[in-house]
Amino acid sequence: MKMYDAIIIGAGIAGLNAAAKFPKDKNVLIICKENSWDCSTFYAQGGIAVPYDQEDIQAHIDDTINVGSGLCDKEAVEILCRDGRIAVDDLINRGFEFDKGEDGKLHYTKEAGHSRARILHAGGDASGRHMHHFLMRENDHLLLYNSTVTDLLIEGSICHGVRVYHKDTFRNYYAKTTIIASGGVGSIYKFHTNARAISGEMQGLVLEKGGTLRDMEMMQFHPTVFIHNKGARKQLLTEALRGEGARIVDENEKRFLFEYDKRGPLSPRNIVSSSIFDWKKKTGLQVFLNLKNFEKAFFKKRFPTIYFNMKDLGFNLPEDEVPISPAFHYAMGGIETDLNGKIPNFKNLYAVGEVACTGVHGGNRLASNSLLEGLVFSKRAVEDILSHELDFESRVFSQEEEVLVKDGDKELKDELRELMWENAGIVREASKLESTLERIERMLHSDIGKLLRLRLKTSREIVKSAIYRKESLGAHYILN
Ligand SMILES: Cc1cc2nc3c(=O)[nH]c(=O)nc-3n(C[C@H](O)[C@H](O)[C@H](O)COP(=O)(O)OP(=O)(O)OC[C@H]3O[C@@H](n4cnc5c(N)ncnc54)[C@H](O)[C@@H]3O)c2cc1C
Repeated sequence: MKMYDAIIIGAGIAGLNAAAKFPKDKNVLIICKENSWDCSTFYAQGGIAVPYDQEDIQAHIDDTINVGSGLCDKEAVEILCRDGRIAVDDLINRGFEFDKGEDGKLHYTKEAGHSRARILHAGGDASGRHMHHFLMRENDHLLLYNSTVTDLLIEGSICHGVRVYHKDTFRNYYAKTTIIASGGVGSIYKFHTNARAISGEMQGLVLEKGGTLRDMEMMQFHPTVFIHNKGARKQLLTEALRGEGARIVDENEKRFLFEYDKRGPLSPRNIVSSSIFDWKKKTGLQVFLNLKNFEKAFFKKRFPTIYFNMKDLGFNLPEDEVPISPAFHYAMGGIETDLNGKIPNFKNLYAVGEVACTGVHGGNRLASNSLLEGLVFSKRAVEDILSHELDFESRVFSQEEEVLVKDGDKELKDELRELMWENAGIVREASKLESTLERIERMLHSDIGKLLRLRLKTSREIVKSAIYRKESLGAHYILN
């Protein structure tokens, strides 16, 4: 029986950076669902937040906690910001190139909620793609793609590896330690910005195994998304656009956001999203992103991904206004872990990146803090794993698995996405949350496949947590 030193579920920034932190002579297996680039990391546009210098660490901590609405775990935030500079410098020393200004120095931009310019970016607005390419090029470990992890092999409280569905067969892979880096929950919402592979199944699986999900009511909706393209993943228009001068207007060119918050378009995401949602509902007017402040040549160079993606959709930027809507974007909540990514109550099982919840984002994530989280906490997890002898005696598990998908699952999955968007989305109402919970329970009691069951369990936690939190806080906005 082949025994890996570590199995990593996910090939986004958290998974690949974790792999990079294992010595080359360790046997590490990375597993991802579809193609390696089908992850949210690949689509990240704006960049990575990092304290500008030593003096800026405290301000970055304060900004993170302010946007997190006081719900952040302070120690986690201190780690993020203190180790953040080190992690980004490490990436640069490994050869990664961030964009530079005309003076040849690193170019920092500003995004909503930040008290100063501290976002580094690459390839203009292709930061995630560049980082992902870099981490993939750097990777020395085995990567199994087109493979879905369907189970964690747990006996007692010890994790012995994973069961994988690959090319129509199930196979167990054994490891001394397993790291879950499977990203957020995008596909359980009707409109979202995440990669296709991101569906919240691993959160449901950990819950079934006896783990805990934390802060699940805290789901972030990005305010500026073009939702009229085909396919579930919608076209994001990065926050950096607003940071650098884009305006949000209604059909009458009114900059209505100032009626909700004096920071207008630079208010934190939850405020911009709920304001757009409310204004559309109240006035019946369409809302647009106006980019006319940008000079064309500059725009094309600074935001090439958006320029070309929107061109394919028939928009001539920056001249044309783009109709926008909020869409699901990021899960602050996730699998509860300690500050080293370890999942309590289990041995040899970790979670890092968007799938995990250390409490670092609290009620709302500060823009561009998530790529940083992926780097910082994946490194800590691997350091923790390498720092002690693992409690381990190998076991063999059956390779039999339940039916993953049954007839009728697709219709229920679509219904769930609609329900989550309408009732557990930007603005929530207690009665609608209750009826959604009832419907989810009924779906869970019907004849469904395992993958849908796991999604439903993750969704149920979001709804239950939203019902439990009676007051609006952070990204959770509830009408009483
Ligand atoms: C459009 C967009 C723009 C963004 N812009 C920014 C930004 O500018 N700055 C910033 O800081 N953050 C940004 N974010 C958020 C950030 O990109 C993500 O939070 C971060 O990349 C998540 O990284 P991750 O490694 O945790 O997960 P991901 O990058 O999502 O990777 C998850 C991996 O897990 C695999 N996986 C999932 N389930 C399974 C399974 N069952 N079996 C096997 N493999 C599985 C997937 O295949 C994938 O490889 C953006 C997100 C999006 C969607």
